Amino acid sequence: MKDVLIIGGGISGLCVGWGLARRGVRAELWEADERPGGKIRSHREAGYLTEQAAALLLNFRPEVDRFIRATGLAPYKAGRDRAREGRRYLVQDGRLRPVPGGLGGLMISDLWSLRAKLRMLSEAFVPARADDGESVARFITRRLGREMLEKAIDPFVAGTLASDPEAADARCTLPRLTALETRYGSITLGVLVNRLLRRRSAHVHETFSFDAGMERLTSTLAGTPGLTLRTGHRALEIAPTASGWRVTGQNADGELECRARRVVLSVPAPRAARLLAPLDRDIGELLDGIRYAPLAVVHLGLEQRSIRHALDGTGFLTPRREQLNVNGNLWLGSLFPERAPPGHTLLTSYVGGSRHPRRADWGDARLLDAVLADLRPLLGIQGEPDYLRVERHHQALPQYHGHYGARLRALDTRLALLPGIELAANYKGGVSVRDRIAQGLIAAERVHRSLSGSDRPKPSALPLTPWPAGQG
Ligand SMILES: Cc1cc2nc3c(=O)[nH]c(=O)nc-3n(C[C@H](O)[C@H](O)[C@H](O)COP(=O)(O)OP(=O)(O)OC[C@H]3O[C@@H](n4cnc5c(N)ncnc54)[C@H](O)[C@@H]3O)c2cc1C
Repeated sequence: MKDVLIIGGGISGLCVGWGLARRGVRAELWEADERPGGKIRSHREAGYLTEQAAALLLNFRPEVDRFIRATGLAPYKAGRDRAREGRRYLVQDGRLRPVPGGLGGLMISDLWSLRAKLRMLSEAFVPARADDGESVARFITRRLGREMLEKAIDPFVAGTLASDPEAADARCTLPRLTALETRYGSITLGVLVNRLLRRRSAHVHETFSFDAGMERLTSTLAGTPGLTLRTGHRALEIAPTASGWRVTGQNADGELECRARRVVLSVPAPRAARLLAPLDRDIGELLDGIRYAPLAVVHLGLEQRSIRHALDGTGFLTPRREQLNVNGNLWLGSLFPERAPPGHTLLTSYVGGSRHPRRADWGDARLLDAVLADLRPLLGIQGEPDYLRVERHHQALPQYHGHYGARLRALDTRLALLPGIELAANYKGGVSVRDRIAQGLIAAERVHRSLSGSDRPKPSALPLTPWPAGQG
């Protein structure tokens, strides 16, 4: 009997495995694919280094800093100084405009109208409201006004989360902003207080990747001493035993079986639904109701001299009202010059998401035309790209839509009936690599405590919270 079986070897499952190994818990990890890392994968071709999914780690969490040091990854960090210095841009009226830093910068920028600035200044006087299930659009409009939503938050939510502010649950999508309202009654007041007290939200943001790309992170974690990684192992069924769980599955040689006291599911929600539905129909339905947005990632290699813009930053995001094809564009060749051949640069665009899901299915030629139609006028591109690579994700990112917080609470309540089963994946607690690391470590801590008896799980007699119908 194993102590812990982790199912799914993306960044979420690998971080749980690392956290457990660090506490001396010997876990086994089953990954269906022949390689670990899940969505994270770096690709070298024709002198370019591109990413299948996550390209950057944007960190402001001290615990993630500590994790990077403890894993020995700190010397392999790449690009952080450039990213810190670099600007971020927004598209406005068909032109790139730098995003100002800090409240002072916001106030003097001509990105916003005088009316929007006055609205922002009056935010501290807007009464706080505890509105469970409020959308991002309603939350931001209520606190900061419609212009701020359309020009700043909509591009952020669409460009970095592939989501839609009208449908996204504010508390789950923007937990730090909504927490400021809950705690201080105001976002602006909260930011100022935190800055004065030098709290986490005032922690310097650091944007970086690794020398060999993001795959350096997952391949390092896959080699964690004490973690038994089994690739090509697909879990198919979970059944209870007297002292834990029996997981059956399949690999190239045939059927598999593993008995474990605890099982951590770090697979996408639809997979987790399939594994857990036979144990609890409601859990299956709650997980199955989580929607994913598709995305196409379009990498273009270009000669630097064919681009007029200085590419002096991280890249740009696009508000919906600009009606562009791309949701965002990263200047990875500027952040990491070694990712393109000398004299060349790498531009990475994101197309589709909740905003335009069908566009993620466009063929390569159509995607190339669409991306170039946006980039040429914005960046002053003259020549033709000499490199194109397209990555398509039909289920790129889970959407924290509807009353998502209520969905997660209902899931937790039902899960208490399956003691020893833990969920740790990007549909819970944030999709970013930063959040996956932080949440993976929390899950490992919880599993360790339960195994050591200080938090022994008991079959629960909790009253079940019914899932509110029609709130998907
Ligand atoms: C296009 C794109 C760009 C992104 N850019 C960024 C970025 O720049 N910065 C950032 O911080 N984040 C970014 N993200 C988000 C981040 O990459 C993901 O949220 C994160 O990698 C997901 O990790 P995960 O482990 O939760 O899931 P996954 O990576 O999906 O891993 C799940 C694993 O479970 C395995 N599995 C499934 N079923 C079974 C089974 N039955 N048995 C065993 N194994 C199974 C799968 O093979 C897979 O390896 C991006 C995401 C996408 C899609």
